[in-house]
Amino acid sequence: MKIIMLGAPGAGKGTQAQMIADKYEIPHISTGDIFRENVKNGTELGMEAKKYMDQGALVPDELTVKILLDRVAKDDCKNGYVLDGFPRTIPQAEVLDNALNEIGEKIDYAINVDVPDENIIRRMSGRRACLSCGATYHIEHVPPKKEGICDRCGKELVLRDDDKEETVKNRLDVYHKQTQPLIDFYTKKGVLKTVDGTVDMKDVFAAITAILA
Ligand code: ADP
Ligand code: AMP
Repeated sequence: MKIIMLGAPGAGKGTQAQMIADKYEIPHISTGDIFRENVKNGTELGMEAKKYMDQGALVPDELTVKILLDRVAKDDCKNGYVLDGFPRTIPQAEVLDNALNEIGEKIDYAINVDVPDENIIRRMSGRRACLSCGATYHIEHVPPKKEGICDRCGKELVLRDDDKEETVKNRLDVYHKQTQPLIDFYTKKGVLKTVDGTVDMKDVFAAITAILA
């Protein structure tokens, strides 16, 4: 099963993608996590990506597409995957589509987690991320068992540099201009499903599993 998560930054794509990955035993692939890992390790890719991420801008397609295509070609992707944060532009979606076409495959579901902009800023300022394993928490809605520490891997949780209010506003702008057109793209392909992302995360997940069942 190949699934794409769509939605504004902070809509809950990563939270739901991780739950889907656990239930269906497929990898959760987040291009944002891959970039953050590279920033943390000071790689050349990380240094290049950081310039864009800190502004709330998108990393150029040339860099992003290659990383994603390399990742989905790995062995653990044989039974499918859930993509979180990719594609984010029409050219990215087209490259993915062509690559899948060439091997006679396709995306099965594009799940749009719908959350209005008003809710997003509040969510992002409370988000805490583990840069080690990619897990995400919220200080009110999804607190870790021990404050500031990741339940999954025991590492320290941080407020992402790009979750500051000014950057979040830019990211929302970029989302509306560059990523929202993908809703049309996947509607035309007949695979788009929209869920209400404003309800409790367990209820969002129930709506998603009802679609995937
Ligand atoms: P995205 O991957 O779309 O950027 P995240 O999954 O990281 O979004 O979620 C953004 C923030 O909102 C996180 O702090 C997360 O814990 C929290 N969150 C996710 N889903 C919900 C929900 N249904 N209700 C309230 N908070 C949520
Ligand atoms: P995310 O963790 O998905 O919110 O992504 C964080 C940041 O990484 C984004 O604001 C972009 O700068 C960059 N990024 C992640 N995925 C992509 C992508 N598919 N295309 C371009 N930039 C991306």
